[in-house]
Amino acid sequence: MFHIYCPYCEEHREEEEFHPKGQAHIQRPVDPEACSDEAWGDYLFFRDNPRGIHHELWVHAVGCRKFFNITRHTVSYEILETYKMGEKPSITAADLSEKDKQAGVQAASGGWQTVGARPESEALNKEARA
Ligand SMILES: [Zn+2]
Repeated sequence: MFHIYCPYCEEHREEEEFHPKGQAHIQRPVDPEACSDEAWGDYLFFRDNPRGIHHELWVHAVGCRKFFNITRHTVSYEILETYKMGEKPSITAADLSEKDKQAGVQAASGGWQTVGARPESEALNKEARA
């Protein structure tokens, strides 16, 4: 068993109290009626699966019942930080050490929202969907 720090309760609690809810920082298209089917499909169904730093949405289900974000390393499963909704992570893929980069851990192509995905793999995904 391990403990996860809830940024709202401001204490470590047992992992059984929490549930993961998938990738964090996914923004709904501003005007869904105007966006393309592909953009809407990306929003609904496609998520990053990086080898490295990943930002995830979690809920403290058996506690304060609030949603918050976790920055987790997908190779080591280490939770690097937790932060409240609306806050930006202080750790991103840009902070990876040279050792991690040489070990094949992916770095973000841009922005802090979705780190880990490489442009080549995004292109492959689009070809596979076409
Ligand atoms: Zn809590």
